[in-house]
Amino acid sequence: MTERRRRLSKPVWVGDVKVGGDAPISVQSMTKTDTRDVEATVRQIKGLEEAGCEIIRCAVPDMEAAKALAEIKKQISIPLIADIHFHYQLALEAVKSVDCLRLNPGNIRDPERVKEVVLAAKERQIPIRIGVNFGSLPPVNAIGMKAGASRHLDGVNALAKAGEELAEGQISVVDHMVATGLWEIGLLESLDFDLIKISLKAFDVPTTVETYRRMAELVPYPLHLGITESGTAKSGSIRSAVGLGVLLFDGIGDTIRVSLSDDSKEEVYAGYDILKSLNLRDKGAVIVACPSCGRADVDIRKLANAVDGLLKETNTSVKVAVMGCEVNGPGEAKDADVGIAAGVGRAIIFRKGKKSRVVEEKDMLEALMEEVQLVSAEKELEKAKAG
Ligand code: SF4
Repeated sequence: MTERRRRLSKPVWVGDVKVGGDAPISVQSMTKTDTRDVEATVRQIKGLEEAGCEIIRCAVPDMEAAKALAEIKKQISIPLIADIHFHYQLALEAVKSVDCLRLNPGNIRDPERVKEVVLAAKERQIPIRIGVNFGSLPPVNAIGMKAGASRHLDGVNALAKAGEELAEGQISVVDHMVATGLWEIGLLESLDFDLIKISLKAFDVPTTVETYRRMAELVPYPLHLGITESGTAKSGSIRSAVGLGVLLFDGIGDTIRVSLSDDSKEEVYAGYDILKSLNLRDKGAVIVACPSCGRADVDIRKLANAVDGLLKETNTSVKVAVMGCEVNGPGEAKDADVGIAAGVGRAIIFRKGKKSRVVEEKDMLEALMEEVQLVSAEKELEKAKAG
């Protein structure tokens, strides 16, 4: 694991998961079921738990959904966050059973109502995430105003993004997002409430990065990172990896969610892949696979995808290399716990760079997985002995 310098935030506990401080950067996701359908929601959360999701958030569109959270909470093992927009009454109901609230300062703007929610959260000692989102920012010059200004008429959509030129006296999206977050932080602090997390998400990556960087300098609270509405599994994962990667590399970020228009499990897998790429988490398998080329002796795409699929939900930290030929394969695979270098009609299996066995092509997937299982079992044993 990397020792790269990390912004030291003031940690909070979301249920039994510590967020911030020296805690591992947690991976969270959101359900895509109707929260009122407790059975379907619990089923989805259990699937996400198996995929490695550490914190789950559910949308709370109405009072029936807010009341359903208590039953959902009883049936799951990971911490539950209620995602609240518009209606503070939903937060007052949800706060009775969940481990954290997400409030949007863009659409719950009446300070008196926010205060009521904060006092309820304070009584239960559960944290609040201040979730600023580009798509639902309050009107410019009307942060915290109850009424009288429309986001659609007041120029929020015309604000300059990061990197765009600012007209004389104009503020940028970054300025407005940071100011919106600070408004609500001030409100919470005025009530002596500091169980705070913050997110500042936009689709535009430079805007998101600059906003988080600025906020990271201003307050001590943990940051929940995300690129909002980032897209489909492929494009959204890339966009999120770029945005989150820049911040995480700089030591900014305490918990992440990759928002994808896909199965929530894909969000969890992508989250870990981002963290593992920066050596910030070592949970689960890392697949090293060559791109294949004219020298490849087997169908690497098929083999690598088969290995990837089989190792998707393993929790053991194991590095597996899949290489297409005997020219570069052994060298490229030497760093891995287990590697395979395919040859004509056969394949060499390596363990920690040393040749372990030679198998026929038809047996290579099975043989590789056997080795992976052996290594995983050894690692688990070592871990158990260590503590
Ligand atoms: S390992 Fe062999 S097949 Fe794969 S990219 Fe390198 S040279 Fe090509």
